[in-house]
Amino acid sequence: MSPDTKALVWFRGGLRIRDNSCLYEALKANTQVYCCYILDDFYMRGGDIGAARASFLLDTLTILSEDLQHRGGGLIIRRAQQIPEECAMLAHTLGVGRVYANRDYMPYPMERDKKLSNLLESDGRKLILCDDQLAVPPEIVKTDAGNPYTVFTPFKRKWEALLQLIEPKSPEPYFYKLAPAPSNISEPLPTLSDFGLVLTQQIEPAGEHAAQTRLEQFVELGINRYHEERDLAYLPTSTSRLSPHLKWGTLSVRDCIRAAQHHDAPGAIKWLDELAWREFYYHVGFHFPHVYTGPMLREYSDFPWSNNTEHFELWKQGKTGYPFVDAGMRQLNATGWMHNRLRQVTASYLCKDLCISWQMGERYFMQMLTDGDWPSNNGGWQWVAGCGTDPRRATRIFNPVLQQQRYDPNYLYIKEWIPEWGTSAYPIMPVVEHSEGRRRYMQLFNESSAARSDARGSARATKADDQPSLF
Ligand SMILES: Cc1cc2nc3c(=O)[nH]c(=O)nc-3n(C[C@H](O)[C@H](O)[C@H](O)COP(=O)(O)OP(=O)(O)OC[C@H]3O[C@@H](n4cnc5c(N)ncnc54)[C@H](O)[C@@H]3O)c2cc1C
Repeated sequence: MSPDTKALVWFRGGLRIRDNSCLYEALKANTQVYCCYILDDFYMRGGDIGAARASFLLDTLTILSEDLQHRGGGLIIRRAQQIPEECAMLAHTLGVGRVYANRDYMPYPMERDKKLSNLLESDGRKLILCDDQLAVPPEIVKTDAGNPYTVFTPFKRKWEALLQLIEPKSPEPYFYKLAPAPSNISEPLPTLSDFGLVLTQQIEPAGEHAAQTRLEQFVELGINRYHEERDLAYLPTSTSRLSPHLKWGTLSVRDCIRAAQHHDAPGAIKWLDELAWREFYYHVGFHFPHVYTGPMLREYSDFPWSNNTEHFELWKQGKTGYPFVDAGMRQLNATGWMHNRLRQVTASYLCKDLCISWQMGERYFMQMLTDGDWPSNNGGWQWVAGCGTDPRRATRIFNPVLQQQRYDPNYLYIKEWIPEWGTSAYPIMPVVEHSEGRRRYMQLFNESSAARSDARGSARATKADDQPSLF
């Protein structure tokens, strides 16, 4: 067998067999295919991945490895700090001519892949990257003038027009080409404790079978009412809870879009919008990578946050005294997942009422969430902080009491997550009262360079004060 008919599939995201672009392309074009996952020691110990996400990853790898073994293959596990070097060395040791991977759109992974491509080429091998993570790759969606979008609604219209869904790519006919993981090369899958992590959360089941089951359940029980119920966090099927699977690629986004298009009813159409938000934030991060280190709108970089550490701790623990905020934080701390409505309310309370930097909240969410995903997390935080792509900017200040009255009027969600609510054990006085927090924030905002350079005038304090509603 000549070396260039052997290939290596390097799994990073996309941790599934079904409808997986790089696995399918590798199996189709080669005669023997190895699979590997390289655990990044630096990342796993770095503090930005908490026990919940790490555990979800390790469980997923166990399942993927078993699934590959059932089909005659296997998953080579390696642990390293120099990832491109490790992958290139593996390709050399296995004697493969090509390495296949699904394309990543974040700055660091793109640099990593460029380095790997150079290393492989210098050794007479090739890196083949496949689009898989998004339904439409970020450079394809452009304004008529050829520029990237910075506003969601026009992005979504163009994105929808570009959606061309093909049938799932089926690797089944080629499974006989899968090669087992050589035992002298593969390492045992590490455990959480190998990375100094301890799981205290009750997380959702991982792996692609769990993902398919959850998608089926949501299609049966939730999708038709999604447009009406998606904000009601107390209902278990108000949203799909598929985000960890989309983050790790145990589910293909194309499967979700097919399900939505198949239903073509108001709930499904609204759900498609949410999938478009995910793609929008990847698009923004791809074209404006500075969002990963600071605000999209640069005039917000020197915003004078107070960053009170005592208040930050109380927010993290779900002890602010606002039960809707606290219930959200406790759901996060207990399960590694939080409902979207609560992500907005808790984030708003942190940035606007406590005047604590959105970047501190962003990092805490990344540490706690099983679905912690840089583009969506960053986009969500900047949306709430008002320094991202959203034209409403600083005027959006959620009122935690009005939010609860509207979305949890019978306190069902609050009772689920705060067992001591209504007793003397629950704090009665809020750490910062909403109207006081809002007043302080708007004062800081009006004195900041963000307000001075706000050419659109959409974030004036006077206007904000005139808007009682839910904000
Ligand atoms: C402050 C903040 C932080 C967030 N951090 C993350 C994060 O780290 N990872 C993450 O996947 N989502 C994040 N989101 C977006 C959203 O809250 C979650 O995607 C959603 O709650 C996941 O629940 P679900 O799977 O039931 O969503 P559904 O309502 O069923 O939506 C289906 C899918 O669409 C995508 N989606 C839905 N809403 C959004 C949105 N607003 N932005 C981007 N994608 C969306 C997700 O992939 C989701 O799984 C964040 C939002 C905010 C406000």
